[in-house]
Amino acid sequence: MAVVTIENLNKSFGAFNAVDNLNLKTEDGEFVVLVGPSGCGKTTTMRMIAGLEGSTSGSISFDGEDVTDQTPSERDVAMVFQSYALYPHLTVYENMAFCLKVRKWTKDKIDVQVRKTAKALDIEALLERKPAALSGGQRQRVALGRAIVREPRIFLMDEPLSNLDAKLRIEMRAEIVKLCRRLKITTFYVTHDQLEALTMGHRIVVMRGGIAQQIDTPQNIYDTPVNRFVAGFIGSPPMNFIDVTIENGALVAPGVRLLPQGSVGEALRPRSGKVVAGVRPEHLAPVVGDVESGSGTIRGRIELIEPLGSQIMIQISVGDSLVSAQFERGPVVEVGKDIVLEHRPNSIHAFDSVSERSIL
Ligand code: ATP
Repeated sequence: MAVVTIENLNKSFGAFNAVDNLNLKTEDGEFVVLVGPSGCGKTTTMRMIAGLEGSTSGSISFDGEDVTDQTPSERDVAMVFQSYALYPHLTVYENMAFCLKVRKWTKDKIDVQVRKTAKALDIEALLERKPAALSGGQRQRVALGRAIVREPRIFLMDEPLSNLDAKLRIEMRAEIVKLCRRLKITTFYVTHDQLEALTMGHRIVVMRGGIAQQIDTPQNIYDTPVNRFVAGFIGSPPMNFIDVTIENGALVAPGVRLLPQGSVGEALRPRSGKVVAGVRPEHLAPVVGDVESGSGTIRGRIELIEPLGSQIMIQISVGDSLVSAQFERGPVVEVGKDIVLEHRPNSIHAFDSVSERSIL
């Protein structure tokens, strides 16, 4: 376990800033997820924490000890990467025992530790097999086992599930979270999958162009994104953005009348002019019966209907733009028909048209 403190961390490749002034302090045993589009600096950050990549400036410390200039082995971190290369000629047991042997552990101590870890990961039955005789999920479990068998101070995982199919990913996601909670190892986990970030992290670091846009709990990032990028990146299907004009506290455009409330409503009241409104598809549903005067609505024509089991997703055209809505199956909807959608109270976001920052 360790508290990781990252201060003013930068990494440049020539004139290009891959990581730009990152600041983050973890809790002991915290699970931190780095998420963002390809090339945003996630892997570079992980490599700097691991000691595989030097920083251009800034510092990293573990439990108050500055490790910025330490080698990877001095830092005592374990890593699982996308290509979880197991030694093909060694059994699962030998793969897991390997790093303990290198550390000159006794045979008995190694045996106890390998079996204890195998039990935690439910791979005891696989110990005598070679990697070629394992399924993708089993191999992934062994890779995790090999990383945690020596009980590192910090655990780094870079897209460890990307080679697995969708169902297995979901299973392994839950397993990894449970395992890390049980072992209370401070973990950094990289993904470009926003859903993985939302479900796994105590806290999420949303990165873009080397800059941490927002570092917060999954709930806060979903509820109060700091800017349009975070709002659009986190949440699926993505948030709808609509160019609107502020009129007496309402946000209006042809076919659109949104009623922001709470802190967004208050922040907009003294303003006028144009902003970008944001509303999540899951916060829109068809009006049943008559439209009440106090409801915020979007009117448009249904262009697409996607059944999702218990819910459906529709896309409607509103002026020149498309707006998505996702709701419980029930109201009859038909392609080509007009529809009025109503937004939930307190569900409207607003972003400055130029800076793209949230107006709160
Ligand atoms: P992905 O999700 O695609 O793995 P990432 O967020 O992990 O992306 P990084 O691998 O950290 O991104 O790369 C960040 C940026 O730094 C990218 O634009 C990449 O091209 C650049 N970069 C990374 N390593 C080097 C290097 N050794 N030399 C030059 N540029 C590099």
